[in-house]
Amino acid sequence: MPLVKIEEILGARCPLCGGQLDQPGICRDCEAGLRADRRGNLIYLDTYRNLKGLVRRLKYRGGSSLARPLARSLAKGVAEAGWQIEAITSVPTLWWRIYLRGYNPAEVLAKEIAGELGVEYIRVLGRRYAPSQTRRSPDVRASLRAGTFYVRRQLPARRWLLVDDVWTTGGTFRAVERALRAAGAEAVFGAVIAASKKPV
Ligand SMILES: [Zn+2]
Repeated sequence: MPLVKIEEILGARCPLCGGQLDQPGICRDCEAGLRADRRGNLIYLDTYRNLKGLVRRLKYRGGSSLARPLARSLAKGVAEAGWQIEAITSVPTLWWRIYLRGYNPAEVLAKEIAGELGVEYIRVLGRRYAPSQTRRSPDVRASLRAGTFYVRRQLPARRWLLVDDVWTTGGTFRAVERALRAAGAEAVFGAVIAASKKPV
């Protein structure tokens, strides 16, 4: 019987080192090299520059198998931070993006982190459509974003972990945090795969 390489079964190489995959998502060596970093209320794995390929694959290429190893590293960081999270949720995307991709990468990641930590994942947020913001000034973007997110139900917990794939300016995180706090959240912490620059 011929030997079958695991990469032939999984159909991919490690997106970080290009080596042979010995588990789904990323290889064990690369996973061991991912160490969660903490800045204030945010846990992240590395800069966007270093993890760009990984983030893109999770987002655009049906790469949900990446979520588990990334979530394991993030969950370790969250546990070490001692935040006493009571529930986990994710930044919602728009329905047609889910329709196109089949899933919301932030939600897939959040559910895996919830599983690792033994904390419940709860879908509590909604997102309104806002026109493309890339050509607007930062001030206009910030005010548009403020009304973009809303809480859809009574919050069953006070201390939340909010999961997204990337931290860019922090504007999205702050907009969601405001919505959660307005609905009664006491504390909101964040976990993302990559930060565009050192978050503050
Ligand atoms: Zn690797």
